[in-house]
Amino acid sequence: MTTDRHALFAAHAYLPQGWRRDVLLEWNDAGVLTAVVPDAPASAGIARASGPVMPGMPNLHSHAFQRAMAGLTEYRAQASDNFWSWRDLMYRFAARITPERLEAIARWLYVEMLKAGYTSVCEFHYVHHAPNGSRYANEAELGQRVVDAASQAGIGMTMLPVLYQYSGFDMRAPRPDQRRFINTPESLLDLLSTLRRARPEHGALTYGVAPHSLRAVSAASLRTLLEGLDADLPGAPIHVHIAEQTGEVEECLAATGARPVAWLLDHFDVGARWCLVHATHVDEAETAALAASGAVAGLCLTTEANLGDGVFPAQRYLEANGRIGVGSDSHVAVDWRAELRLLEYGQRLVRRQRNVLACPTRPQVAERLFDAALAGGAQASGRAVGALAPGCRADWLVLDAEHPSLYGREPDDWLAGVVFCEHGGSPIAEVHTGGRRVVHGGRHEDEARAYEAYCEALAHLLA
Ligand code: ZN
Repeated sequence: MTTDRHALFAAHAYLPQGWRRDVLLEWNDAGVLTAVVPDAPASAGIARASGPVMPGMPNLHSHAFQRAMAGLTEYRAQASDNFWSWRDLMYRFAARITPERLEAIARWLYVEMLKAGYTSVCEFHYVHHAPNGSRYANEAELGQRVVDAASQAGIGMTMLPVLYQYSGFDMRAPRPDQRRFINTPESLLDLLSTLRRARPEHGALTYGVAPHSLRAVSAASLRTLLEGLDADLPGAPIHVHIAEQTGEVEECLAATGARPVAWLLDHFDVGARWCLVHATHVDEAETAALAASGAVAGLCLTTEANLGDGVFPAQRYLEANGRIGVGSDSHVAVDWRAELRLLEYGQRLVRRQRNVLACPTRPQVAERLFDAALAGGAQASGRAVGALAPGCRADWLVLDAEHPSLYGREPDDWLAGVVFCEHGGSPIAEVHTGGRRVVHGGRHEDEARAYEAYCEALAHLLA
């Protein structure tokens, strides 16, 4: 029954050891890789990949609804536009989201992610309630819509319901335009249980939590949240926005006497299950301590550039063996290639050097950053993803080696072509998740219907 085997033969595949020839991939009905064998003999009856095969990228940070406002805030509305003026606009947008519109936006976004080669996503989900702040009849309605959108599109998901409790470090009462976000630790844990009962974990879905930021929770409420999480889901991922803005660093210093990353590391047992999103503003001691903690720094370069956040000290952090992953966050761009490119380019522009994030043992910048983002993204998602290896999810991309960005290049230069070159269209021809092909010839199988629903949602939102 060789024709029914879940198997693929790739003339070239990117394994944890680098590019290998004649690789046989096998996976089971659950969509998990069972064998990855380089230097295998080609055998009749096994499908051959149309081009080089490489792991799909985990996206470690997403706010799905924000996709609908990408490009709508790129004009000057006051003398000095910044993150906080952008946030006011984003809140007005969030107020108009309905369950149906959220599902349509998320589904289209996840189609875009898959086309770009993101095969899983950590959804930092904070719009929970009806526009007036009351609970939906199903308290987990909006989270469930996002989970459903992911399974319709065929992307893996780590759903992270967000605890948003206060509007500032002094346990300031929430603003009226934050009422859709607000929970106590207890009500957020209830919501998570409700969601897990309705949509239990499976091979492509897992759960964690996200305390929104140190300005939106107190030490006590964070402790309660994490104790409750450990009772239900020991070891589950914890994501937090940590130091995106100098304003929040200053507020944290005023309220606690410490900078946000330093405060968190001092007060909580931050380790491998943690993802510190936007660890942008860290001093030297924080950079070293964060790297030593084993947590992942969640970098969202295109959003951080778009919002004028600042530049993360990536060179020093990687030298200290710090772990990183990338996310598309506000979705002004949905492309891990652009995130990795900007990660390196930010350093080049600041330091006036080239190949800054290479190191003596990893001279190829793109390969070093790709490997780091795969490993860190997988760790942050709490799922076995990000590698072509037995036991990992059967998520991979097939490149078009004839694409102008790759043509005539040796395998050692393919990742540089993928990450640094932009010559029209994407060199990612196919995307497979759980062993199933969802993108072919650059098109997602559900693209037309998902886009139609997205356009309809957008028409209502912008009316
Ligand atoms: Zn975010």
